[in-house]
Order: sequence, then C-alpha cells, then structure tokens
Amino acid sequence: MEADEWEERYIKAYDSINSSISNVKGVFVAYNSNIDAIKHIRAGDIERLLKYLDLEKVQEKIYSYPRQIDTPYDFLARLLIAMRDGKAAEVPTYSTDIHEWLTDNLVFDKARMGGQAGIISNLLASMDLKQVIVYIPWLSREQAEYFVESENLVHPVIHDGNFELVHPTKAYNPNYKSKVNWIIEFPKGLEVKFGEDKFVVPRANRLIISSRPPWIRIDMNDEIQSHLTDLCGQIDGAILSGYQMIKEEYEDGTTYKDHVSNSVDVIESLKNCNPAVRIHVEFTSIQNKIIRSAILNDIVKSHVHSLGLDTVEVANALNVLGHEELAYSVISKGENAIVSLYEGAVRLLHELELERIHIHSLGYYICVASTDCPVVPEDHLECLLFSACVAASKAKRGFIRHFNDIAHGLDVPVSQKGLDEIEKLGIYLVRQGVCSLDEFRDGFISTPHHNVLVNPTKVVENPIGTVGIGDAISASAFVAMLSKM
Ligand code: ADP
Repeated sequence: MEADEWEERYIKAYDSINSSISNVKGVFVAYNSNIDAIKHIRAGDIERLLKYLDLEKVQEKIYSYPRQIDTPYDFLARLLIAMRDGKAAEVPTYSTDIHEWLTDNLVFDKARMGGQAGIISNLLASMDLKQVIVYIPWLSREQAEYFVESENLVHPVIHDGNFELVHPTKAYNPNYKSKVNWIIEFPKGLEVKFGEDKFVVPRANRLIISSRPPWIRIDMNDEIQSHLTDLCGQIDGAILSGYQMIKEEYEDGTTYKDHVSNSVDVIESLKNCNPAVRIHVEFTSIQNKIIRSAILNDIVKSHVHSLGLDTVEVANALNVLGHEELAYSVISKGENAIVSLYEGAVRLLHELELERIHIHSLGYYICVASTDCPVVPEDHLECLLFSACVAASKAKRGFIRHFNDIAHGLDVPVSQKGLDEIEKLGIYLVRQGVCSLDEFRDGFISTPHHNVLVNPTKVVENPIGTVGIGDAISASAFVAMLSKM
C-alpha cells in the first residue's frame, strides 16, 4: 500500500475508534507515578551552588565518581562531570534529602507528571474514557496534584471502612512523601567557572537524578485488594506498569518473590470475577536480569494478555529468555533488524503465552496477535493506526486534553522511512512463503499460528514533546482494542 492509501486508512481508523471508544466501561491503571522536576541550567547557576559548598570536597567527589547521590557534593560532582563531557547520565538517589536540598537551592523551572501509570492514567482520562481507576501505592499529597482534574479519573480509598473511588486529590495518604526525579538540562556553550578551572559545555544534554526511596513497593494495600472484585463490572481492562521497581531484597526481609506473588494475586483477582477483562503490561528497560526474568516468566507469562514495548526492550526480553543472538540482531541496526524484530515478537508471543504483543519503533509498529485474540485483524490494525495518531498528536502539540485533540495527529504525514523499513519485512515474509506482497501491504497477515499487523506511523519532524509517547502508544492501542471486543 502506498502512503496516500495509508493516509485514508488513518482517517477511517480515527473515525472508527471515535465511535467505538465509548464501548469501554473503564480501565484500571497501576502502579508507578512520580514527579519530574525540570531545571534548565543557566549562566551563574553552578557558581551560585558552589558558594554553599566546599570546593575541595566537590573536587574529591569528581575523582571518586559517585554512583549514587547521597549528598549535595555527590550531586554537584556528577553534574559537573556530565556538563564537562556533554554526556547524558542517570544516577539514583535512595533518600528524599537531595530533593529537599535541590528544591531549596537549585529550584525547578517546572514540574510534570512522570512514571508510566501516572502518564497513562492522565492520558486516558483526557481522552474522555468513561472511567479510569488509577492505583498508586505511594500516593502523596503533592503527587496527587499532578493528576488531571477530571471526573472520570478516580483512585480507590478506604474511608471509614468503606471502599470508595474518589479523585486522587481526595485519596492520598498525608504521611507519604513524594518520589521526585530531577531532570537537569544544560545547554551547549555554557561557560562554567569551577574554582581556578573553567570549561565550556561541549554538547547540550541532561543529568537525571532518579529517586528510589526505600519505601517504594509494587504492592497493593490489603484492604483495597480485598475490594478489587468490586471493580469487576466497571472495567474492561487493566494496564500495569512499574514492575521494574521491584528490588531483589528489602530492608524488611521480603524479597522480589513476595512482590511478584502479590502482583500475580492482583492480576488474578482482576480476572477472576470477569474472565473477559484483559490485562496489559507496559514493559520497560531494567538492568537487573533476575528481576527482568521474574517480570517476564512469573508475572507476564500465562497471566497477562498483552505486552507493550519498544525495540530495545524487545532485545532485553529476548536476551533474558535465552535468545541472545536474536536479541543482538534486533539492536544491531543492520539491514535486517526489522526481520529480527518480527521474529523476536513471534517468539515472545508464544513463549510468554500472550494474546498480543505490540512493538513500537520510530516509523512503524509491529503487533503479533494469537489466533484466539478476540479482535479481528482488520479492527486490530485500526487500533494501531489510532495509537500512531495519538503519538503524532502528542509529539506535535505536546498534549492531549480531549479525544478530539487526537485528530491533530492526522495532519502529520505517514513516514516514508517507516514504509521503506516495513517493505524489507514484506520481502522477507514473501520469501518465506508466509504471505503475498499484496497481503503484506494491506497491513495484516494471517498465519495458522498467529496474525501479524504491521503499519507505518506518522512521525513528527520537530516534536514538541516526546516524553511518555511510548506509553501513550501502547495504552491507546490497548484501550482501542478493548473498544472493539
Ligand atoms: P518513552 O519513554 O517516551 O515512552 P519509548 O522508547 O518507549 O520512549 O517510545 C518512544 C516511541 O515514541 C517511539 O518508539 C516512537 O514510536 C514514538 N515517537 C518518538 N518520537 C516521535 C515523533 N517525533 N513522532 C511520532 N512518534 C514518535
């Protein structure tokens, strides 16, 4: 299919989901949200911070290269290193002290919702879904304020022994602190004076201080969990994310196994009273292979229907499941990386016993669905096109406040690069005898073992916002699918 035919299909897909989205009764979203505090470093900022600190101690820290941020000295050392080299870096902090120090001494320019569940629930509520039930185990007062003010967005809470659904600003625990990630952007060419030294930032980049306080748990409050069945009639699906925060061991003696088991209990309770409920997990990069394997083998496999991820995450998943060569080939950027991506998707679908796997890349998406997936391939493809429209709209304007805003994505042209890339996969599938080139160009291929959906996307050349677009793609395609079930 040529670009102009895809454009027509995009319009049809948008209209189609526009009329079916009201079929979705509600969606449950958990677990992770945080606040992103953003600071753009300007001339004089570093010199001002240095005034409060002992220069020699900062210098020592630069030599010792702290791997985590405990004190302002660790912070300044890593910031100076990142700025001097013009390199991006992400460094964890395990307490909230540095947040307080930075709030008082660096002061952020703006702050926004961060974390997959936070971003997804705000998006779905803004897409005018009937009901979005979000659950954040560490919902603090400050965090609650980052949820959009919308009547369809609610959080479970126990008030006087009763289970209630209220806006997050009425459901927070006043004793909880906030999880705040600092994103510190620095511009190219900025001159920094550091004692007797001076340097010029060679490249614009950012340092992220990611907050990992010890009280973070991917767990559900017992009382709320016992009432999960109350939600059965109110939701068609659940989007779960944040499992990457599970740690191997906790100070209280529990291990990842306890938290994995709690996560599975939550999934099973959601499914038990309504077998039609679909569960989607949004995967993300995680270094720790024990946890990565536990997420895939113990939480996703045989419990979850749908998995959303980007190409790097496909490689990571394949790697931990023992397909190292294929994993390498997916990220090799070689001529046939898209073929490996497709092969990888097929393996993940079958090995993890999924109903669908949706991979997003810049320029195209690949979705492989099991033959018993309750949505027909034609409709399923519309869901993917709709999600690409959501991504384009978000990249182009930076926000989606109402369902109608998604239509702005339609004005973004279909990516020629994406079309060229998927053509390579088409040629491979034709050679393998899987389908004809015409069938491939139609966007969906049926095989006896699974259905394959491939579409070019709409790529915004100079995007305003790219934060959380991957989450937006997966979540909107999933809810679109729920609307077609
Ligand atoms: P994130 O952390 O933003 O979710 P991901 O890598 O998971 O990052 O997802 C990014 C996805 O967003 C890409 O796979 C691509 O499909 C989409 N995307 C990125 N930039 C653009 C853009 N300029 N226009 C349209 N889609 C984009």
